[in-house]
Amino acid sequence: MHTSETLERVADEFAKLPSIGRKTAHRIAMYLVKCSHEDVKNLSKALLELKDNIKFCSVCCNITEMDPCYICVSEKRTRNLICIVEEPNDVFAIEKTNEYRGQYHVLHGIISPLDGIGPEDIKIKELLMRLRGDIDEVILALNPSVEGEYTITYLTKLIKPLNIKISRIARGIPVGTELEFADEVTIAKALEGRVTL
Ligand code: ZN
Repeated sequence: MHTSETLERVADEFAKLPSIGRKTAHRIAMYLVKCSHEDVKNLSKALLELKDNIKFCSVCCNITEMDPCYICVSEKRTRNLICIVEEPNDVFAIEKTNEYRGQYHVLHGIISPLDGIGPEDIKIKELLMRLRGDIDEVILALNPSVEGEYTITYLTKLIKPLNIKISRIARGIPVGTELEFADEVTIAKALEGRVTL
């Protein structure tokens, strides 16, 4: 017996997380063994609170601690403009620019036939419900990837007949770069230079 069953169990859990391989999972578990009882307690408390407090906004599907989220209820934001993004991190990235004053819709993924992800697997149904309301323009701020292009084409076909202006962010974002890792100036410029579809 070279290791402990308890340690292995913790490592198993960490290994389930994205980007964490078996080796790293082990390293983290071992690190926690050396941490103070207090630190480990704080970590587990924070994890449980994450599950208890964070939910998805029933309007825009972004993560939030109150429903609807602060962006959806804000009086200061334009109501008839929706920026469509893949993940909550994209909302944070765009908010950091301080340039965008409209609403958001988080798809929680992207259409990817090769991975078996279809339109029904992401929040498109919820988006269409919103578009029945008073919406003048949607901006597609999806990542520049094959799946991004596929999703843009799909959504354009769906939204065009609703008489809503559709634009996509300019191609200032280099292909292969995730929106959340682009700098604020690039994102702001990409939003400003959006192209009507
Ligand atoms: Zn919201």
